[in-house]
Amino acid sequence: MAPASRLPRLLVIDDERAICELIGDVATAVGFEVQTASNLEEIELVVGRGHDIVMLDLHLGGPDGISVMKTLAARAPGSRVVLVSGASDRIIASADRVAQMYGLEVLATCQKPFSLTQLRGILEDCRASALLPQELGVARPSLREVLADLVIPELTMAYQPVVRLSDGKVVGAEALVRWTHPNFGSVSPVDFVPYLERTGRSRELLTQVASEVARERSEFASLAALDDLAINVSARDLSMSDTPDLLREILTPAAPAAAWTLELTESAAYGAAVSALDVMTRLSLMYFALSIDDFGTGSSTIDRLRFYPFTTLKIDRSFITANSIHSADDWIIVETAVEMGHRLGLAVTAEGVENEPVLARLKELGCDRVQGYLVSRPVGAADFGVACDNWSAINSISTH
Ligand code: C2E
Ligand code: MG
Ligand code: MG
Repeated sequence: MAPASRLPRLLVIDDERAICELIGDVATAVGFEVQTASNLEEIELVVGRGHDIVMLDLHLGGPDGISVMKTLAARAPGSRVVLVSGASDRIIASADRVAQMYGLEVLATCQKPFSLTQLRGILEDCRASALLPQELGVARPSLREVLADLVIPELTMAYQPVVRLSDGKVVGAEALVRWTHPNFGSVSPVDFVPYLERTGRSRELLTQVASEVARERSEFASLAALDDLAINVSARDLSMSDTPDLLREILTPAAPAAAWTLELTESAAYGAAVSALDVMTRLSLMYFALSIDDFGTGSSTIDRLRFYPFTTLKIDRSFITANSIHSADDWIIVETAVEMGHRLGLAVTAEGVENEPVLARLKELGCDRVQGYLVSRPVGAADFGVACDNWSAINSISTH
């Protein structure tokens, strides 16, 4: 582990040596120790060897940036990267997704040509995030080390309001699991949920989440008043035949099954298709509502919509959130998803709504419900009522 006093290390990979030098000069001025690599041999030698951040050009003449990402992910899992390219926004956005698929953390993307001011801004932001734990005098542990400390009973829940677009009222919420490491702060569920699944603890996670949410729904009036409260269920739990009984036992004392939605993420494989179908059919026979989460990001989407008894289709936030690069294509996909959901008899929710124009457009398209930072970030049960009141105040201003 790095000593607390050293400078953060930046690796710059670009096939144009002059660009490497330029970035290197600015990065040194900002406070990085810089190493550069501009040909295959150099890259092969240095990539994944103890850098805090890697600034990677996607076009490298010989190898492409994607193969470098693969090597980096294999040698130094969870590395932080900045992606640089002269390609279109769309190609950079797909490279961003590929990096995330490999488990890399994308700190920023940067389109060439960039100005020195832009470059400096990006590097300053990167340096701030690379330095934080060391400034506290603590060396940054790897994600693996942090996750080893996870204790399931320490997990808590946050709730994000879901708003009905026809009248702007909060009608539901999604419960999202949270973990705060005692020394290193909050850790994203995107990191620890897959880890719990990999280590065979998705059942324990589900039991903890369902119990906490049921308890808080009984305790807090603002949660008890909702028509619907959604929890996320791992694909792995769908291959266990006792999942429906477990959920009924834990959830229905707090509210009837029809007032609960189970969100099943689409991007993960559902295990053996037959048993997943069996479990989901039994859940819907118990009157639980079922939502297909992250719609549009996984495989065999259409197939699942044909066979599984979903009641809601939730459009993935990647189509909704990225407004600065919101393309006409994204809107075509959203519009088609809304129409398809409706024609199949499903309610459609869009997640990741961050601003008014997007909200207005979704309303025009006939989307039923929205969720996103515009309404509220996920908050603890005790703050949920206030978050809803704040939204109602804004909403009554904007509709009158
Ligand atoms: P998800 O189920 O698709 O949850 C929505 C995610 O979008 C949440 O991230 C939420 O904080 C984020 N989000 C909501 N509105 C906005 C917005 O306007 N802008 C942006 N940028 N993001 C927004 P979070 O809480 O980090 O959760 C990430 C994922 O972790 C969830 O995605 C879900 O797949 C998983 N997860 C969370 N809680 C649980 C859980 O209790 N059990 C299981 N199995 N998975 C969970
Ligand atoms: Mg969800
Ligand atoms: Mg989602």
